[in-house]
Amino acid sequence: MSAEYADVIIDLSVKNVDRIFQYRIPKRLRETVGIGTQVLVPFGKGDMERKGFVVAAGNEPSFAPERIKEILDIVPGAVPVKSQMICLAWWMRERYSSTMSQALKTVLPVKTEVTPRNERTIRSLKSREELANLLAEAERKKYRARIRLYRALLENGELPYRLTAEKLGITAAALKPLEDRGVIEVVSERKNRDPVRGYEREDKAPELNAEQRAAADAVIRDYDSGIRGTYLLYGITGSGKTEVYMELIAHVLAAGKQVIVLIPEISLTWQTVMRFYRRFGARVSIINSRLSAGERYDQSERAANGEIDIMIGPRSALFTPFENLGLIIIDEEHEPAYQSENAPRYHAREVAQMRAKMSGASLVLGSATPSLESYKRALDGEYRLLSLTKRAKEESRLARVHIVDLRAELAEGNRSIFSRKLTELMNGCLARKEQAMLFMNRRGYANFVSCRSCGEAVKCPHCDVSLTYHRDGRMRCHYCGFERPVPEKCPVCGSPYIAPFGTGTQKLEELAARAFPGARILRMDADTTSKKGAHEEILQTFSEGGADILIGTQMIVKGHDFPNVTLVGIMAADLSLYAPDFRSSERTFELLTQASGRAGRGSLAGDVVIQTYAPDHFAIGAAAEQDYPKFYEQEFLYRKMMGYPPAVGLLTVTLSSRDEEALARAADAAKRRIEQEYGTELRGLIGPVNALPYKLNDIYRKNLYIKNESYAILFKVRKSVQSWENGRDMTRNVTVQYDL
Ligand code: ADP
Ligand code: ZN
Ligand code: ZN
Repeated sequence: MSAEYADVIIDLSVKNVDRIFQYRIPKRLRETVGIGTQVLVPFGKGDMERKGFVVAAGNEPSFAPERIKEILDIVPGAVPVKSQMICLAWWMRERYSSTMSQALKTVLPVKTEVTPRNERTIRSLKSREELANLLAEAERKKYRARIRLYRALLENGELPYRLTAEKLGITAAALKPLEDRGVIEVVSERKNRDPVRGYEREDKAPELNAEQRAAADAVIRDYDSGIRGTYLLYGITGSGKTEVYMELIAHVLAAGKQVIVLIPEISLTWQTVMRFYRRFGARVSIINSRLSAGERYDQSERAANGEIDIMIGPRSALFTPFENLGLIIIDEEHEPAYQSENAPRYHAREVAQMRAKMSGASLVLGSATPSLESYKRALDGEYRLLSLTKRAKEESRLARVHIVDLRAELAEGNRSIFSRKLTELMNGCLARKEQAMLFMNRRGYANFVSCRSCGEAVKCPHCDVSLTYHRDGRMRCHYCGFERPVPEKCPVCGSPYIAPFGTGTQKLEELAARAFPGARILRMDADTTSKKGAHEEILQTFSEGGADILIGTQMIVKGHDFPNVTLVGIMAADLSLYAPDFRSSERTFELLTQASGRAGRGSLAGDVVIQTYAPDHFAIGAAAEQDYPKFYEQEFLYRKMMGYPPAVGLLTVTLSSRDEEALARAADAAKRRIEQEYGTELRGLIGPVNALPYKLNDIYRKNLYIKNESYAILFKVRKSVQSWENGRDMTRNVTVQYDL
């Protein structure tokens, strides 16, 4: 803080919010005035006293300093949440260069005509024993939906209707007869709901172990002494991060405050969500990304009215209008799902930090594989680092990891995609009636179709990427959905020697069926989960023991807790290593660590086989040891050497157009403009280079990369390109986007 000038919005109203006025901050207030502060200012001709909100603070006057009026005072008391949200929108607009109206739409729920639906709950009316009997009977008769329902009821006592129906694939028609027979009731009023009313819960809060206790206490001590910090909870998979979150939540709730918990994707983390629900019951509400505008509005009304005090959801849950927010938790903070793809293209981590600051809340980021950005901040002291280095359950050990060199396999005559080690472990696992997961980061049957004469792969006519070959004999573009049959001749040279090349999940399923006859196999990828609920169905079936092997893309590695899985095979660990992106090592490390974390979560020991052509790559070695700090050290060195974030700030300017020539002209002109104004100040100005893919849906795209240690300079460069971009003929058919 201690800025000299403040930008103030007067008399907050959504309509009139696009105008700001600059004021001087008197010396005595400099330590206290910051973004979100409510202030009293003189306004208009007669210098009437008006209330305003500070949306930005800095040291540069935007007009003649002698004409700038002074802030009179600070308005005491809490800032109303709506005002906080509007300030947040303003900040987002500046930070992500969106329009104010886009930012407001993101931050404030859209009021709709939909009559609010009541939250409904499914509750068992039978005793535990009776329910267990019903379950046994359903199992005999193989009533799948009922089996799931009874199991979930036994575990949870009661269930939130909306989520449960979707997750367990239970329809209203299936519930009706059970209601009629008095097995369950569906209640819509929440007030009498008491989570303990269900059954004696087996999973009462466990005693935290020493590491968990230390992590929780660090946050709690700060909290109780009025310090609101940002914490990075780095804990290996299964180390008990979720228990630490719940401990913190309980503490903050006891202080009369509210909590927001962000998770990347509800359907992938249902088990975790239900743990919160079991612990905190009626005080929890859950939103998922598929909610309609009406439901979303309804949820935020309930939060504003104080009906709930924990909101769990994807990044949009950040904007829950809690009046007394005390804590924000971001689980799996490294997940790309926290980056918004639409304007304002915000990152939840950054917005959470701003929201926490405005409302006096603490922020806890958790991950087994933190983003390099966050870990760097923790090492720099900007975040406080809390570590969990051991698995929480005494009996659960980290899996044994075997790295297999695929080049050696081939050299020794094994042409199968299953290495000898993997085959041996698979046979053992299946013989013991345990489960295995095979991970292949590529869907489809074979990767692409290429020409053996000229080497060209068959490409999408709309996008600059290879088409993917599927078992139905057709080729599809995974970017735009274009499809075509496999051509008879090479479109480039006319050669008839054209054939599929490489392996995808579909092909892997076929090969696994051949290699392990009799094993029941499930496959989960974008092709088998396009139908609503298919996702849940597959995971549910697998966790119920309905299959021996689960084959899938990265979808299967996230968060699931399958106690009977003792073997994880990573078919080609380096597939993602050579992606044309400076983050490819980080992504590979993440995937391998998370995938390895799947094995041996129950009481059974686990094995992980990592098959790779690059056994010596540091990302693979570090993942095998679940050693993030080691990975970070090497990766950061590399980023520094190459001038990539987070070692160096990077502004990407993406220009796009249907007109290739106009695009090239505009990109060159933008580069010249930046060179003229900032040439000597920048650490690097790269480009224009073709984006990857260069052509997407018939639109061409080029990037300019601007690097600098100082973000302030990158902000200035962006402003300058923006003002150049507006009002230029040259950019008429060209769209410009910024990513900082
Ligand atoms: P993470 O979120 O780090 O992956 P979880 O919180 O899911 O870890 O914990 C992994 C498993 O260990 C869960 O089954 C959880 O119930 C259990 N667990 C966590 N903390 C403890 C503890 N202190 N004592 C016993 N079991 C624990
Ligand atoms: Zn050819
Ligand atoms: Zn395409």
